[in-house]
Amino acid sequence: MNRPVLQIENARAYYIVENNYVRAIDDISIVIREGEVVGIVGESGSGKTTLSNVMLMNIKRPLSLIDGKVKLYSNGNVIELNKLSREELQKNIWGKETSIIPQSAMNALMPTKKIKDSILDVMKTHFEEIHEKEIIEKVQARFEEVGISKDVIFRYPFELSGGMKQRAVIAIATLLNPRFLIADEPTSALDVSTQKMVLKTIQDLREKEIVKSIAFITHDIATVRQIAETLVVMYAGKIVEISSIEDIIKEPLHPYTRGLLFSVVTPEPEVKKRGIYYIPGTPPNLMYPPPGCRFHPRCEYKLDICDKEEPKLKDVNGRKVACFLY
Ligand code: SF4
Repeated sequence: MNRPVLQIENARAYYIVENNYVRAIDDISIVIREGEVVGIVGESGSGKTTLSNVMLMNIKRPLSLIDGKVKLYSNGNVIELNKLSREELQKNIWGKETSIIPQSAMNALMPTKKIKDSILDVMKTHFEEIHEKEIIEKVQARFEEVGISKDVIFRYPFELSGGMKQRAVIAIATLLNPRFLIADEPTSALDVSTQKMVLKTIQDLREKEIVKSIAFITHDIATVRQIAETLVVMYAGKIVEISSIEDIIKEPLHPYTRGLLFSVVTPEPEVKKRGIYYIPGTPPNLMYPPPGCRFHPRCEYKLDICDKEEPKLKDVNGRKVACFLY
């Protein structure tokens, strides 16, 4: 088994709203290892984006890490990110050890600045002294690695197509070769052919060992299937299943995973023959999550125990699932 790069232990991250808690992620543990692309899927509101903020320790009010540890493994050292101040994270971790292609990557570039100037601004937050010529050369080399012309650095964002902008953001996010990269819905605003190009660019980052491992966050199993080997399925702030993509496509274990998988329009013949399905109801209000299994109000397999006790993630033939059916 490969060495871990990032480990989350029993994390609880809540939004504090009007003297109450929104339990956005609740007792989550996960290990991401070298060489892995891990897909994290779930409906909106399942806690995916909060989990990405916890992975980076980008915790700002009203979000608060109530409990748990976030460990980064780097060159034989274990760094507990949850013990670092925001200034320390900004100076020593973000961009260098961990990085993110943000959800609205298309808008991540300042529209009024040439790309070169946005990059120099970012570099100033990491280094006390910067050598402009050196940085520009480095960025241009990375631009060519991700398949865009090196002259793009001298252009304004509005002069670029969606795909070029997205790849420029990917190049900037990985400029310092971070060990761990989060791609948060990186293809959601793109047409199908541009999506394929961007997925290939992200795949290349790992193959060329620019990054060690990637967490790919999406609501869309069909997209994540093209890039990840392992799938983490989230529902209402909990992980409900962790499995290889192949196992999940062949036989999803958790009823929510089944619903998620069968409710997509998919080219996979194994999934297609089961027909289209939808999950009844809506995700719960996480200020008042239902007792027991959080999926029980929507679950057609509900047992007597399901609204009384909370199912824990357990091993089922080498896979992990949190459901009383197993
Ligand atoms: Fe359904 Fe019970 Fe399994 Fe929850 S624990 S998914 S309610 S069967």
